[in-house]
Amino acid sequence: MKLLIFGAPGVGKGIFGSKLKARFGLEKIATGDIFREEIKAGTELGKKVQDYLAKGLLVPDEIVIDVVKKRVQNKDNFLLDGFPRTVAQAKALDKLTKIDAIIKINSFDEILIEKISARRICSNPKCDGNYNIADIHKVINGIRFDLPPLLPKKDMICDKCGSKLIQRPDDNPETIKERLQIYKEQSEPVLEYYKKKKVPFIEIWSNKEPELVFEELVQKMKEAGVVK
Ligand code: AMP
Repeated sequence: MKLLIFGAPGVGKGIFGSKLKARFGLEKIATGDIFREEIKAGTELGKKVQDYLAKGLLVPDEIVIDVVKKRVQNKDNFLLDGFPRTVAQAKALDKLTKIDAIIKINSFDEILIEKISARRICSNPKCDGNYNIADIHKVINGIRFDLPPLLPKKDMICDKCGSKLIQRPDDNPETIKERLQIYKEQSEPVLEYYKKKKVPFIEIWSNKEPELVFEELVQKMKEAGVVK
């Protein structure tokens, strides 16, 4: 199964991606995670991309496509998270492989800004521990959001591996606005591209605890015949 998880920054792609990986045994290919690892390791690629990440700007298509190419070729069981983010990337992906379904996660900017500012991630690049200290309860455009905090058992320590939790450097108010704007301008057209190609879409609101949203998502995937 080849899946793509899509949505604005902070919507929960990382969390739902990890859950999909665990439930269906998929390899998760997350371009943002790959770049953060390369930056931490001080590689050539890391040096090339670090300024883009720090500013919340998109890494040039040719660099991202090259990274993804190496990871999707000859594979048929993966979930792409954070890629494609431009129509040019989607077109390049089409040449490499055929996606079975897209999972689109919805939210509102107001919620995303609050959630991204409160995100804490595991400092261990090999771990995908992901937490949030925001406690959000509100109604926007008739949709009720009940997003309790996702706290580690020990203060600022990852439950999964015991490493320290940190804030992503690009999770600051200025960069968040930039990333949301770029998402609207450059990434939303990717959805239209796939809709025209009639790739199956599974859409879900990230408006309650991730466990509840995830079970709804799996149910929708079953109904759409994407999983059994
Ligand atoms: P993410 O972890 O998905 O929020 O990605 C973090 C940052 O990595 C983004 O703000 C971009 O700077 C860069 N990035 C990740 N994926 C892509 C992509 N597909 N195209 C361009 N830049 C990307």
